[in-house]
Amino acid sequence: MRRNRRVKIVATLGPASTNEDTMRRLFEAGADVFRVNMSHATHDGLREVHGIVRKLETEFSRPIGILVDLQGPKLRIGKIESGTMRLTKGDVVSFVRREDVGGLGRIHLPHPEIFESVEAGHSMLLDDGKLKLRVVEASDVRIDAEVLNSGLLGSRKGISLPDTVLPFGALTDKDRADIECANSIGVSWLALSFVQRPADIEEARELSRNRTAIMAKIEKPTAIHFLKEIVDLADGIMVARGDLGVEMPVEKVPGLQKQISRAARNAGKPVVVATQMLESMIYAPVPTRAEVSDVATAVFEGADAVMLSAESAVGKYPVDAVATMNRIAIEVEHDPLHAAIIHAQRIDPQATGADAISAAARTVAETLNLAAIVCYTASGATALRAARERPQQPILALTPIPRTARKLTIVWGQHCVLADDPINLDDMVAKACRIAYQEASPRPGSRSSSPPVCRSENRAPRTCSASPSRSDRGRGISVGPAADATSSAVPG
Ligand code: PGA
Ligand code: MN
Repeated sequence: MRRNRRVKIVATLGPASTNEDTMRRLFEAGADVFRVNMSHATHDGLREVHGIVRKLETEFSRPIGILVDLQGPKLRIGKIESGTMRLTKGDVVSFVRREDVGGLGRIHLPHPEIFESVEAGHSMLLDDGKLKLRVVEASDVRIDAEVLNSGLLGSRKGISLPDTVLPFGALTDKDRADIECANSIGVSWLALSFVQRPADIEEARELSRNRTAIMAKIEKPTAIHFLKEIVDLADGIMVARGDLGVEMPVEKVPGLQKQISRAARNAGKPVVVATQMLESMIYAPVPTRAEVSDVATAVFEGADAVMLSAESAVGKYPVDAVATMNRIAIEVEHDPLHAAIIHAQRIDPQATGADAISAAARTVAETLNLAAIVCYTASGATALRAARERPQQPILALTPIPRTARKLTIVWGQHCVLADDPINLDDMVAKACRIAYQEASPRPGSRSSSPPVCRSENRAPRTCSASPSRSDRGRGISVGPAADATSSAVPG
């Protein structure tokens, strides 16, 4: 099964979808990667998902990605004895470190680090930013803050401190245990929540013992500050618009989405646009026009993947949400302006052999109107360079390593197929042509280009033609190397 689009779809699992039947229907509707949100899932739940995904992989003969999203240092206030507490604009309320002095208008805050780092003038946002406060005075044991808008505060609500650099990394003890579980199972991607500094990525990479690709969720102003360094260190990036829009003014989110997408694309790393893409489909079978336009914008921007959260995890219409996203993506990618817009965003190749060859392969494929670009890849690096070019042709990534195939499920334009390493150059071309024919269904007579090769990075792109082979004449068309198959498409 080959998708009729380049952008990928990530579907978050939850009570509405964590079962074999729904996951099968989600895959058929277009989900390329399943996300497990460790804020809600248990280790047993993760193991169950893993078992179902591997079963579906066998059933459909396609690699399917699993993205384990770590909860990270999500800060919460303590329990409010009476259940809720009214905060009135202009009042000053106190946050206290010790639980036993909570109550009487004081709010327990069970995070000593906040008391050590917060300063007068910093913002405090409670309950996804619904309540805003400004710190007037802070000590080691008490923070006094002025309420800037009235509202009701419930127990254990989240708290964000966008101006404060907190002295802890992105990984909590729970995250460490979750990474251990993900490692023991073998998942494709780990997403780190509330990354603040480049060192957060290094820590996660060490803990995951390099077994899992690391995605940095950009949802804090400090992560924007260190964006370049974070992009350089991570394997992928998520525009986590939910918390980003709490920690920063919402009107900044669209510009940041563009900035983050470009930084990731420049580095040749996959970028996922997440949160509230089809939010109204949690309750309704059709999305709003504004949501359709939001998904379309991400596709026009050349995002690697678009993501569903609550829509597929707890919504009433998880399969319809994926099917809707699939339809929007296909339609946008067939829009006459799509290629021109993607082309206009193209960045120059970096000064490396792999980039030069990838750029050349794209030019050859587009000039000759080839059916596909085929690349052999072990780590996935070669396939990523090909995707960075955003060619008009599908990219067939051939790899003998299942882990690589699963990692590439989140990457733009990749159709990954498990294949043994070729034994020599002729075998490489023959195999590429055969698999291109099976998987990309090129038209008879159309050709495909085989660009950089991971094990032999220096070879120039090659093309091969789809033509009836002798033995297949009676049955139809197959792909075999044509007369020009061994001639290089690029001089040299
Ligand atoms: P979350 O992350 O769903 O884990 O909060 C995504 C976001 O904040 O947008
Ligand atoms: Mn978040």
